[in-house]
Amino acid sequence: ARHCTQDYSTRQAVLEKNAQINAFVHIGPEPGPSSTPKTGPLADLKIAVKDNIATTDSPTTCSSAMLKSFTSPFEATVVQRLREDGADVVGKTNCDEFGMGSLNIYSVHGPTLNPFDPSERRSAGGSSGGSAAAVAMGACDAALGTDTGGSIRLPASYCGVVGFKPSYGFVSRWGVVSYADSLDCVGVLGADVPVVSRVFERISAFDTKDPTSAEPELRQLASAYTKQRLQSMTRLEGLKVGIPQEFFPAELSRPVLDRFRSVLRVLKERGVRLIPVSLPSSSYSLSAYYVLASAEASSNMARYDGIEYGERRPPSSATDLRSVASVYAQTRSAGLGPEVQRRILLGTYALTSDAFDNYFLQAQRVRQLVKNDFDAVFSLPNVRNEGVEDDPSAEGVDVLLHPSAIGSAPSLSSGPNPSSALDAYVQDLLTVPASLAGLPALSVPCPSPAPGEGNGDDGWPIGFSLIGQWGTDSLVLAVGEAIS
Ligand code: GLN
Repeated sequence: ARHCTQDYSTRQAVLEKNAQINAFVHIGPEPGPSSTPKTGPLADLKIAVKDNIATTDSPTTCSSAMLKSFTSPFEATVVQRLREDGADVVGKTNCDEFGMGSLNIYSVHGPTLNPFDPSERRSAGGSSGGSAAAVAMGACDAALGTDTGGSIRLPASYCGVVGFKPSYGFVSRWGVVSYADSLDCVGVLGADVPVVSRVFERISAFDTKDPTSAEPELRQLASAYTKQRLQSMTRLEGLKVGIPQEFFPAELSRPVLDRFRSVLRVLKERGVRLIPVSLPSSSYSLSAYYVLASAEASSNMARYDGIEYGERRPPSSATDLRSVASVYAQTRSAGLGPEVQRRILLGTYALTSDAFDNYFLQAQRVRQLVKNDFDAVFSLPNVRNEGVEDDPSAEGVDVLLHPSAIGSAPSLSSGPNPSSALDAYVQDLLTVPASLAGLPALSVPCPSPAPGEGNGDDGWPIGFSLIGQWGTDSLVLAVGEAIS
């Protein structure tokens, strides 16, 4: 049945439901009655954790055959914080292998089914598909995911839940398995914005163990601007929302456009100023993203060689003189799935001396242009820039608004098909610009069309996304709460 109202409050119930959805790859034991009652700001919450985030009480497989039996000797800072705050960590969630994918189909544990209507066998989205599905099926109040190029926002959109990718550097990556370090962000999925905000506020903190963690001074500076702006705004009156014209590509489906327009109508009635803006370089984001993310991935994946990390395979023959190289090759061929291998090849190529200037360097340039485009449209300054001007400009917008994805959840029945890899990449068209610029972005479900309305709309969830200037996470969440 559409819309889940069941109560999965016990582990047993979650286990039963999970047999169909495959959102969890590990479900922890029930917190026993003997254990001392939990206290702390998150003590009332059940929270699931994506399986590329290290936990000591369960394996961390990254949905890869390579790490099938890997249990981390230490816990990620984010998980430590959740536990200290009293949260009940329910289990680990399915994902695309090492976070690479958009449909949660590249998983050694099998795909996650979208819980909205499992009988239709549609994708939960990826790569944090298990986290989105766990929330959508009611198995937890919130879930941690990671978002490198859209992996929280896309599954949130497909499953009809809220998904938040914070500013780059706001949440510690210590203990989070790296995919592309300059883009990876840990974020939160939940049924509504308030629960996502609550969890985010507890996990957003400076961490000396993460060299890319945002320094307290920068956080304070950004939050001072944010507070000022929030105070000068009564509810939504006076809020300036930019609509970036490049975020309506030909691939965008008609129902998405129609529903997005209804959202705009409501906002207008509520006194929001809608301002068309242009981010000219964002059209090149997807190409730049796949070059940069693959380049970083090719380097990160080098550690899975069967010696340092990963399930070791024997050399092809015991007398092979090059047996070490053979162990590497056998291990990596057997342990890494097709999409991960594709990224390693693409990324390694982009970093070779022949291709470096044309691919890697160009992609870095595009990334800088994308950042500049965003800085040019926001009224609040980017506090990470050198010599940042003190005053917010009178021009410019507070947040940007766009559809989260080009359509509703695609069907799984066609199955993983290598020739459809490009189709999968297109799913990320609208989410990667904010990733390249490291900006906070929140996907919130669009209201479904009234009965009789919505031509060609199948009623499946669709999300819209807000993007804010770097460090204005609380502004993005406050606006998200007000308009959802
Ligand atoms: N689909 C994108 C990719 O495969 C994004 C993944 C992510 O955000 N982890 O790279």
